[in-house]
Amino acid sequence: MAKKQFKAESKKLMDMMINSIYTHKEIFLRELISNASDALDKMYFKSLTDDSITLSRSDYQIKINVDRDMRTLTIEDNGIGMSEKELENNLGTIAKSGSLDFKTENKADDMSIIGQFGVGFYSAFMVSDSVTVRSLAHGEDQAYCWTSKGVDGYTIEPCIKDTVGTKITLHIKDDTEDEHYSDFLEQYTIMGLVKKYSDFIRYPIRMMWETNRLKEGSENEYEKVLEERTLNSMIPLWKKNKSEITKEEFNSFYKDQFGDWQEPAKVIHTKVEGNATYTALLYVPKQPPFDYYSKNFEKGLQLYSSGVMIMEKCADLLPDYFSFVKGLVDSEDLSLNISREMLQHDRQLKLIATNIERKVRNELLAMLKNDRETYEEFFKAFGTQLKFGMYEDFGANKDKLADLVLFTSSYEKKPVTLAEYVDRCKEGQNTIYYACGESADKIDMLPQAELIKDNGYEILYLTDNVDEFALQILASYKDKTFTNISTENLNLDTEEEKQQLEAINEESKSMLETMKETLAGAVTAVRFTNRLKSHPVCLVSEGVLSLEMEKVLSQMPNGTDAKAEVVMEINKDHPISEKLKQLAETDADKLEKYTKILYAQARLIEGLTVDNPTELSNMICDLML
Ligand code: ADP
Repeated sequence: MAKKQFKAESKKLMDMMINSIYTHKEIFLRELISNASDALDKMYFKSLTDDSITLSRSDYQIKINVDRDMRTLTIEDNGIGMSEKELENNLGTIAKSGSLDFKTENKADDMSIIGQFGVGFYSAFMVSDSVTVRSLAHGEDQAYCWTSKGVDGYTIEPCIKDTVGTKITLHIKDDTEDEHYSDFLEQYTIMGLVKKYSDFIRYPIRMMWETNRLKEGSENEYEKVLEERTLNSMIPLWKKNKSEITKEEFNSFYKDQFGDWQEPAKVIHTKVEGNATYTALLYVPKQPPFDYYSKNFEKGLQLYSSGVMIMEKCADLLPDYFSFVKGLVDSEDLSLNISREMLQHDRQLKLIATNIERKVRNELLAMLKNDRETYEEFFKAFGTQLKFGMYEDFGANKDKLADLVLFTSSYEKKPVTLAEYVDRCKEGQNTIYYACGESADKIDMLPQAELIKDNGYEILYLTDNVDEFALQILASYKDKTFTNISTENLNLDTEEEKQQLEAINEESKSMLETMKETLAGAVTAVRFTNRLKSHPVCLVSEGVLSLEMEKVLSQMPNGTDAKAEVVMEINKDHPISEKLKQLAETDADKLEKYTKILYAQARLIEGLTVDNPTELSNMICDLML
């Protein structure tokens, strides 16, 4: 029998498979089982209209057999089979199903394609040095055998096979220093792989299972017993009706599949039909995985095409701000061998992703409304991610997320939503007040907060680095702007009060100028204020950058040294104001010391460090003596 050559592309793929250094060689089994399952589907559909097929649904099966001595692994199905021509066309060329788009010459890239999607039948050559396919097609009398040892080509010749279907025999490669191919001849390995990749194939995958059993009547003599086992569970949990699934089943599936020891905070099970038809089973974890806030964390959902897993982490299904969601999507609209590049542009997948995003958002909103306690726990774990989401992409998604974020507020010192804040706004209040700091307690003690609270306004306490960035990009919520109480212009004063304050500042102009010069560039101005109640002094920032933002930016790995424009404000009603005015007349030296001390105090209150603590300590001591 003349040897035939593979088509050029196939040859290349074949070569790649044979010499593959790919670590997930095990996926070959998934590929062969999926092909078998497709062939069974085809046969089953045919049987619906073809009376000559006498098989009933329960007769369809995939059989796996291992022969360790011969080093063979066989996968047999009683599906539609392949004729001589089909063997030639299907296995001599790469199926044009788009399984491989050979645009790249890059080996590493090729490998990742294998990893993500598999490349069908040819993957058998990753683990075998020869492959034999015996097949009898439905409606044919003669069976054919296709054999290949790799790139040099293949032969097809008639053979004997009595039943319709396909039997693929892999001769497993010898072990090498790096690869223990013999693993694929172990029944436990095979069972594990079926469970991992093909558990939900709708036909039974059966294997003769070898166990050692005590010989009958004997107490210590064992014998080998072979019995048939079905390796897959066949019905995916998510395909069952919601009412048939218990909470325990949902939860234990989550723990097994997604490696969390805790139960999830929320289970979302949804079946959608329409433009995109899919089932999704999604989980919101209680706690972030240990690497969640690190570079190593990979987001993504498992992707199934009709019960067969085609991708372990499909990142395109989740926006970054919902990257904590775990779970899977199963859709009949997706083809099994779709490449990653194609997947990225797949219209169906985009539709599914948009739906999932909406669904997760709605479920979180429902949790916020109906189960506040759980939501607050959730927000503790993942809130930062949502706030980053508002800020990311120049705020493209800020409006979708604004209703999901919580901030601790001065009102009962509890987390509140922006909507709740707005509902409590006083008549005529057109801004949302906030302040930044390390902790709610510290912010609560800020001098600037006192008067605002006294006036009956609520303040949001921003304690997360990202908070102020998120609010700034949001710019407004329900027509209310945001005001950092440490920045200028709270607009709490009446016209009269404003004028009065202006006059006081004008009167002491030269003293304030001297004080500013004393602080040598640390502040852009020193002035009297009426924003303080009992505290003597505070720092406020002008311009877009607040002191908190300056702190955050300076701590970032490639952060800028952008500086907030800082003004030192002195309480006009505090006795210290009079004292300063006196000193300005009588004791320039002391005025300098007071200025420096007041500035240091203001920095400490803001949670900033003091440049020269020794100098500060000495100055205070001087004044004490
Ligand atoms: P794909 O599954 O993406 O089409 P494969 O290389 O895995 O690519 O298979 C090529 C073709 O060979 C399949 O499309 C199918 O027509 C045929 N084939 C493979 N395995 C079987 C099988 N067990 N029974 C019948 N046909 C098969």
